[in-house]
Amino acid sequence: MTASGDVLVFDFPMRVRFRGQDRRTGVLLRGAAGWGEFSPFPDYDAATCARWLAAAREAADLGWPAPLRDSVPVNTTVPAVDPDRAAELVRGSGCSTAKVKVAERGQSLADDVARVEAVRDAIGPEGKVRVDANGAWTVDEAVTALTALDAFDLEYAEQPVRSLDDMAALRRRVDVRLAADESVRTADDPLRIAGLHAADIVVLKVQPLGGVRRCLEVAESCGLPVVVSSAVETSVGLAAGVALAAALPELPFACGLGTLPLIDGDVSDDSLVPVDGALPVRRVEPRADRCTADPATTVEWLDRMEAADRAA
Ligand SMILES: [Mg+2]
Repeated sequence: MTASGDVLVFDFPMRVRFRGQDRRTGVLLRGAAGWGEFSPFPDYDAATCARWLAAAREAADLGWPAPLRDSVPVNTTVPAVDPDRAAELVRGSGCSTAKVKVAERGQSLADDVARVEAVRDAIGPEGKVRVDANGAWTVDEAVTALTALDAFDLEYAEQPVRSLDDMAALRRRVDVRLAADESVRTADDPLRIAGLHAADIVVLKVQPLGGVRRCLEVAESCGLPVVVSSAVETSVGLAAGVALAAALPELPFACGLGTLPLIDGDVSDDSLVPVDGALPVRRVEPRADRCTADPATTVEWLDRMEAADRAA
């Protein structure tokens, strides 16, 4: 298999390191319905990559279910920065929902409180403030932290603790709603989460779960409200997340799809960047001259795609 008019390989630097990576690379595929993105993270095995490939093929070959809305709200993300910078990021974002990183290694609860307070002041009383601990707290630490941070009226807390048992234990001890993010790795996980009463909300991402239709089935079967997030894709991949958010019967929360600025570059001139806190529901056409991965990266991705195909 070689890169051709229907297969493009992209390679961009990250503006912010993500999952220990400083580049974002992947493949775009064209089918009868348009373009799809296949961009599993480097450490994923072929069986896992098969689900990401299914999402890309759905986008390329089938397209997505009809949208129920023509734009979707997104949150701005505030990294573990000082309070002044946090407030500046929120004011410059145009978003009325902010997701604030907390429990950063080397920082204290006082740092988190100061950051969340600054974000609440900047976004105003009508805005929504959620926090994301990426599983870093113990249950006791999470009880203390969420009790303190809820003074600023949290919308919810994303993955405050790592395991589902800990999520379930924490949920019995705090009033703040909990969202499961890292706990959702496969389509079976949301059902287990609902069964264990381990979260109030599930975060769903199109590529890891194997496509928009699969995510819609998962949302329906687990019965929990959904937050749609990205896997830090280019605009072609983000369009699939937007399609999911547009097709969900209920969309009670702003989506984590405003992630394009994390990547330094994009596959299209017509990028999916938030305007006034929302993304439009539409497909994206990539440009071949923006997908200029070197030969070694191109071969590596075509091999990964073949391996994913065999594992499917
Ligand atoms: Mg998260």
